[in-house]
Amino acid sequence: MNFSFQLIRQDGAARRGKIHTAHGEIDTPAFMPVGTAATVKGMLPQNLRALGAQIILANTYHLMLRPGGDALEKLGGLHRFMNWPGPVLTDSGGYQVMSLAGLRDLDETGVTFRSHLDGSRHQLTPERAVQLQHQYDSTITMVLDECTPYPSTYDAARSSMERSMRWAERCKNAFVARAGYGVFGIVQGSIFPDQRAQSALKLAEIGFDGYAIGGLAVGEGQAQMFAMIEATMPYLPPGRPRYLMGVGKPLDLLGAVARGVDMFDCVLPTRSGRTGQAFTRFGTVNLRNAVHQGDDSPLDRECLCPACRDYSRAYLHHLVRSNEILASVLLTWHNLAFYQQIMAAMRDAIAVGQFADFASKFTEDYETKEREAAANPKPTRRKRSNTPNTVPSVSGKIAAS
Ligand SMILES: [Zn+2]
Repeated sequence: MNFSFQLIRQDGAARRGKIHTAHGEIDTPAFMPVGTAATVKGMLPQNLRALGAQIILANTYHLMLRPGGDALEKLGGLHRFMNWPGPVLTDSGGYQVMSLAGLRDLDETGVTFRSHLDGSRHQLTPERAVQLQHQYDSTITMVLDECTPYPSTYDAARSSMERSMRWAERCKNAFVARAGYGVFGIVQGSIFPDQRAQSALKLAEIGFDGYAIGGLAVGEGQAQMFAMIEATMPYLPPGRPRYLMGVGKPLDLLGAVARGVDMFDCVLPTRSGRTGQAFTRFGTVNLRNAVHQGDDSPLDRECLCPACRDYSRAYLHHLVRSNEILASVLLTWHNLAFYQQIMAAMRDAIAVGQFADFASKFTEDYETKEREAAANPKPTRRKRSNTPNTVPSVSGKIAAS
């Protein structure tokens, strides 16, 4: 079977689709939980599957340092190693090299750096990045790119983007085609619309199985981010999936889907879960706050994840305050379940041509409560239960899956 994207319905610019891969199908718009080191922290693969995740993300840089490409290949690749038979996308590691590695030396060949783990010296070239992802048995390989720092001058952003485009071509040439596997290019160009367009056109000319928009969510703000998506979309082939890297908050996802994005990944739901923060339909909730101490109500009445179904806010608060492992597990679970619920609700809304209505209702609920919480951090239990549920609920579907 070929790696392919099936566009099922378009509603405005929002797209309901399906990606077919060697390791299974991915309904889009899709959110990919981040499993940097071949594990989504605190979650068993069957739990991820049960809450609706169809694809997860791992990281080339982290896995090349530990356990290493050769070791992972001998152990049968990522799917077998981590007991996740579904699709895996591996980020190429360019971003981590820039942000984590020490003493890096970047030139046209690639990047030489010292491991953040033990200081050992490594080189990552476009060809090496692709080879590693082959060894990992990644369903979706990402090209190595230079993550342009923000802010950058116009000229610096352009030379960085042009290097990324030369690297993208080398990655495509190094990619060994296998049935049902794909390789994605990454659009760069900082906050300059003409560079974004130029980058997208170049990648389309090289020809990829999907197109990512990179270098955003680096401090430019939501308005700039949306503007860059709009500047890029007209130049991407419509018959391929589009992936916005490292984004984001629930309203970022909504706005990006409205502009035609099909795939997302972000550490927010998992990382926030480990610090006591929960995402809900009515904004974020910090379980560390003392207001939850005596609150016997669930985190979210409509969510059927274990954290909401089986425990009170008071218990979650207790776990967070006691630094219990279960706090991280339950809140990670809830946040990932919530993100999958948003994606499923968006897919349902697009399928019936009501995405705009859904998006405005969702935004209204989310922003109103977020503002109230910021202004007055008191329990909102009664208000919550009295709030009419105007958002299409997908919790039944999640529970059944
Ligand atoms: Zn929940």
